[in-house]
Amino acid sequence: MEDLPYKTILCDVLVVGAGGAGCRAAIEAANHNLDVIMISKELVGKAHTAMAEGGYNVSLGNVDPDDDVETHMRDTIVGGNYLNNQELAQILVENAAERIYDLEDMGAVFDRTPEGKIAQRPFGKQSWRRTAYASDRTGSEIMVTLTEAIRKTSVRVYDEVFATKLLLTDGKIAGVTAVDLKYGDYLVFRPKAVVMGTGGAGRIFSVTSNAQLDVGDGYGMAYEAGAELIDMEFVQMHPTGMCAPKSAVGRLVTEAVRGEGGILLNNKGERFMNNYYPQVMELAGRDQVARSIMTEVLEGRGSPNGGAYLSIAHLPHQIIEFRLESMIEQFDDAGVDIRHDPMEVSPTAHHFMGGIRIDTNSQSTLPGVFAAGECTGGVHGGNRLGGNALADTQVYGALAGENAAKYAKKNERLGVNRKEIQEEFAHLEAMLIRTEGVSPSDAREELTELMWSKVQIFRNEEDMAFAVKELRRIQKEVVPKIKVDVNEKRFNPGWHQALEYEHMVKTARMVAEAALMRKGNRGAHFRTDADPNDKGYYNIVIRRGEDGEMELRKEDVVVTKIELP
Ligand SMILES: Cc1cc2nc3c(=O)[nH]c(=O)nc-3n(C[C@H](O)[C@H](O)[C@H](O)COP(=O)(O)OP(=O)(O)OC[C@H]3O[C@@H](n4cnc5c(N)ncnc54)[C@H](O)[C@@H]3O)c2cc1C
Repeated sequence: MEDLPYKTILCDVLVVGAGGAGCRAAIEAANHNLDVIMISKELVGKAHTAMAEGGYNVSLGNVDPDDDVETHMRDTIVGGNYLNNQELAQILVENAAERIYDLEDMGAVFDRTPEGKIAQRPFGKQSWRRTAYASDRTGSEIMVTLTEAIRKTSVRVYDEVFATKLLLTDGKIAGVTAVDLKYGDYLVFRPKAVVMGTGGAGRIFSVTSNAQLDVGDGYGMAYEAGAELIDMEFVQMHPTGMCAPKSAVGRLVTEAVRGEGGILLNNKGERFMNNYYPQVMELAGRDQVARSIMTEVLEGRGSPNGGAYLSIAHLPHQIIEFRLESMIEQFDDAGVDIRHDPMEVSPTAHHFMGGIRIDTNSQSTLPGVFAAGECTGGVHGGNRLGGNALADTQVYGALAGENAAKYAKKNERLGVNRKEIQEEFAHLEAMLIRTEGVSPSDAREELTELMWSKVQIFRNEEDMAFAVKELRRIQKEVVPKIKVDVNEKRFNPGWHQALEYEHMVKTARMVAEAALMRKGNRGAHFRTDADPNDKGYYNIVIRRGEDGEMELRKEDVVVTKIELP
């Protein structure tokens, strides 16, 4: 094949992703007077962060004056089942306040207490009311603020641009290959430093609360480049997703509903959380509530669509209308008036606790590659507290942006390998010109169903071993045969699905292989055949070995602050 043409674009810092983390990183890097480019698969402002509802954790003590950083830290570590990187968690809780004030300075408006301070609501497994919010549209408020702020900086925004591969020279970042989805052009960005803010991968499961684009490209790219990933077995299943109508299955019903006093009922009208976690009831950890709902379903006490009822009919209407406005709209579309009738809910794949391993400078194990937000692992350990992810995007977005800028100032731009670039573009082109093969949408359906049925809330050896075997086969046999229906590079959704598919398979494999390796129960990982001798105080680290095979190893948890129980 002849060489494929591509455009080269130089910059100092390239941010991949325009969610809460990517935007915050770009703003910070631009403050260092550097040439910063931010790219995203979708139009800027539409990233998944805009869907976040309930709020941002920060121990301001505005509602419960006894709250403080120490308590937030302890709750985060206990919530993470002691598997968090404690230094990273400490950075999160210590900087959450400064970063929310940054957002206010940029124009964000959070709900207020009667005295005019930032209001805070209760969220599961937290000692105090700590979650700052803007009604139940907190993520949208944050994204509107950040995208407006980006406009006032020198950041060059390339939206609808899909990054495909990290290019390394002598083990350090040298470039990123990409496709311009609008015009079908191949691009090579040549920054001195990169920030990955590529979000999570709920979409590798067939039932998920995540945006369409959250498929794990960042995990796949980082893995392929040889970075270490950590805690990939921990996927948070949010207990309350919609389970009807079919078109809305998986859509999130925010934890704020339970935070504001919502109660869960089975088909006998019993408030069943009393039988599982009577001390905290509906505000038990997300994994605990999800397992309680599924136990009710499995024992025949579920709702007609395989879930439970979540009721707020006992709350004053003005509270519902003021604090849960978007929930009213969401259920209105399904013909349910939540002021009077219960919502039918069941678990949905929601958040990746694991991801690219970072250090306290937000740098991955690859020099010059920084990462922030949901694509990273370590901050949240085995399970994440609701509200800690938005804080994570801001704290680590700013940290990654700052340190990427410092790195770019100290390091020269590295050369890239033309042959490697041509091979990558030829690989992408092959999906278009292949004459026969497997359709990306069929392949994705097979993959997401496999993950949802075999690597779910209740896991076991047999199911996970089956999933791993299947995923290895898929990687070997299906990935090389992906064929897009229409040979057109401009605005071709089939091609976009195909570009994502390979990353989805790698991400799914990392989740399944790590889950199979972990024999005991810890955090969001729960096995019905758990080995009681496996106390589980270790992290599983994954990387691509020199031979191209997936390598997994266990590392003991490092205690820097809070002793293991
Ligand atoms: C429905 C819902 C509600 C939630 N509510 C809350 C809440 O109330 N509080 C809380 O703390 N957390 C909440 N979360 C979690 C939180 O929203 C996310 O963890 C957080 O927003 C992730 O932000 P991010 O910037 O890391 O990634 P995202 O917002 O997912 O952004 C990822 C970006 O990367 C880009 N990208 C990915 N791959 C590529 C590629 N190959 N090339 C180019 N660009 C790419 C995407 O286009 C996007 O711009 C919620 C999650 C869901 C699903």
